[in-house]
Amino acid sequence: MAIIQAFSKSKSISRFISHEEENLYIEVPFQVPVGTEQIKVKMEVIQEGVASSIIDLGVKDPSRVRGWSGGARTEFFIHLAKATPGYLHGPIEAGEWSVILGAYKVANKGCTVKLTIEFTEEKLRWLKGDLHTHSVHSDGKFTLREKAEIATQGGLDFLALTDHNASSQNEAYPRDVDTLYIPGMELTTNWGHLNFFGVNDPVRDFRVSDMEDLHARLSEAREKGAYISLNHPYCRNTRWRLGWDFDYDWVEVWNGPWRKDNQDALDWWQDQLVSGRRLVAVGGSDAHRPDPHVIHGMPTTWVYSKNLTSSEILSSVDKGHVVLSYSPQGPFISLTCGSRIVGDVCINKNLPVQVNVKDVQYNDAVRIISNNGVE
Ligand SMILES: [Zn+2]
Ligand SMILES: [Zn+2]
Repeated sequence: MAIIQAFSKSKSISRFISHEEENLYIEVPFQVPVGTEQIKVKMEVIQEGVASSIIDLGVKDPSRVRGWSGGARTEFFIHLAKATPGYLHGPIEAGEWSVILGAYKVANKGCTVKLTIEFTEEKLRWLKGDLHTHSVHSDGKFTLREKAEIATQGGLDFLALTDHNASSQNEAYPRDVDTLYIPGMELTTNWGHLNFFGVNDPVRDFRVSDMEDLHARLSEAREKGAYISLNHPYCRNTRWRLGWDFDYDWVEVWNGPWRKDNQDALDWWQDQLVSGRRLVAVGGSDAHRPDPHVIHGMPTTWVYSKNLTSSEILSSVDKGHVVLSYSPQGPFISLTCGSRIVGDVCINKNLPVQVNVKDVQYNDAVRIISNNGVE
């Protein structure tokens, strides 16, 4: 997780364990600051003599034992959304935590345990992901572990699991990988497709035959807390054909490789914006299987989020704090106006709007389009 290393702080603690302490569970307290996104602990046992000691490892938070790996591991991490097997992910409460050292076997001369504890603080930053992907849980070829591997190799922080009319992927994805999975489902009807995000089991029955069914499915997902995107509305095969008056949050204007279908969706989105409607645009590769053109992270959805959790990423998308680009390597373009960023409303006309452009190539053109067309 190269990105979050940048705002990590670490601390070392050494604890001598004497032979007399054999069989005890020794607590080594440490303070966890407010706003911590991840804790990583590494243990090194320094032997004092020839005979070796065996020290087990675990941790407790302010209210409970949070994980235990016995003698199986010498390091672990706990993140808001992910953790090493044997450890529980979830809220990281500030206050006194303790590493638990199980003095299973301690040599006569004792041993010294050196602990390195690394804290990663929550911090607003641009995270990169793909909001539309498939797996073996529908008609995709990738297992969830393979997808995590691909995402990490490609430099992506998160992947949404939007299998067709299935939710088993949301119960099956690994939480010990670098990639954050966002639970999802692509509601796949004969009249077009929509994505649900952020809920493990958005609908009990996916089948939609008419507008009435659609409203019922959407309100069920909505009640459970799902965000909804209208997918590839102008796709030549699976365009949206059921009428436009229904409840959704975002529109997918960039699906897989750039083509006329996407341009039509983009033009429609522009018309919506010009008409005064604030509608967030998202993108996704729709990757199903190894393919030379349809590739995870192409396009990439960049989200300005304070941590790598589904809830924070999705609520940031909903604020419009989103940039779409060709790939995780860019190009990256964002707008700022004072402290406001893309997606925000800026009413102070005296503040200049800044365009920040990164990773463009020679001869690339940057066009800024407003309600008046190309500026
Ligand atoms: Zn689709
Ligand atoms: Zn799809």
